[in-house]
Amino acid sequence: MHDLPPTHPPHDAGGRYDGPVMREEHDAAQWEREADAIRMLLADGKRRLFTTDESRRVQEQLDDATYWAMPYYERWILAFSSLLLEKGTLTKAALEAEEARLRAEGLDRVEGEASAHHHHDDDDHDHDHDHDDHPYQEDHDAGEMVLSPLRLRGLAVRNLLVAKGVLTPEEIRAEIERMDARSPHHGAAVVARAWVDPDFAARLAADAPAAVKELGLDAAGTKLAALFNTETRHHLVVCTLCSCYPRIIIGRPPAWYKSRAYRARAVRDPRGILREFGTELPPGVELRVHDSNAELRYLVIPARPAGTEGWEEARLATLVTRDSMIGVTTARQP
Ligand code: FE
Repeated sequence: MHDLPPTHPPHDAGGRYDGPVMREEHDAAQWEREADAIRMLLADGKRRLFTTDESRRVQEQLDDATYWAMPYYERWILAFSSLLLEKGTLTKAALEAEEARLRAEGLDRVEGEASAHHHHDDDDHDHDHDHDDHPYQEDHDAGEMVLSPLRLRGLAVRNLLVAKGVLTPEEIRAEIERMDARSPHHGAAVVARAWVDPDFAARLAADAPAAVKELGLDAAGTKLAALFNTETRHHLVVCTLCSCYPRIIIGRPPAWYKSRAYRARAVRDPRGILREFGTELPPGVELRVHDSNAELRYLVIPARPAGTEGWEEARLATLVTRDSMIGVTTARQP
């Protein structure tokens, strides 16, 4: 095995060697949805407390083992808590005092959720290397689980931000609901419209954010590009550096999209990745891999399956899967 030297930054997974993509999926847990929401709110147009690049910079300073062992949303909590301290929005003393209060009041403990976690591994983190990366530490005396230091930190940061009026519980709840409402169905509607309406397809190709607005979807300032699969060309999307994804249209990315194996191999062995997802491209089909970034997100428009002539838009949309809009599969065959 030849891998990049250990001095290589941990996040830069593209082209490294890795094994099969682990594809178990789980709905995001409440703490993950909350971390997701707080991170988005802090960087939104109202607050602008940091940028995506700053958030990544904190995570990229971790060593390789720590980076990949840390549950995905713990990395986000690490990033936003560090940046809030760095920028003086919060002080270390206040944060430590709030963590101490939470511990003293026993609010750092979880019942029920914890044992479920151990048995079903129901977290939205990367599975492919360290299976012992659960954010709990067992407390045998109490028979309960104690929150990991970073989950406790996330809780403390949220409380302090609310107390300071930086964000409100209502805003957090609304942001969680907004993201929960984003789903591949939205992307499927875009694809189906593009299949039946060549003029719409042309507008989508030229200016995707404007085109999706016709379907009531708001790209919210995200630069979005549509990649059209054809009989001779297939597109595959990855973010080798983190997890950039057209989440504003189709929701939070699946765990495997954020995994080291996918990020590493999508650029080294894309046809191998496609095979793992059961996709065999006919010979002669060109495969193009697109690396997303904070400024530009891609939505793959899969090719319209044969045998769907005359189908209505809504029926066509049922053939469009999330995975086909990432490019690891084609649309369902009727
Ligand atoms: Fe990314």
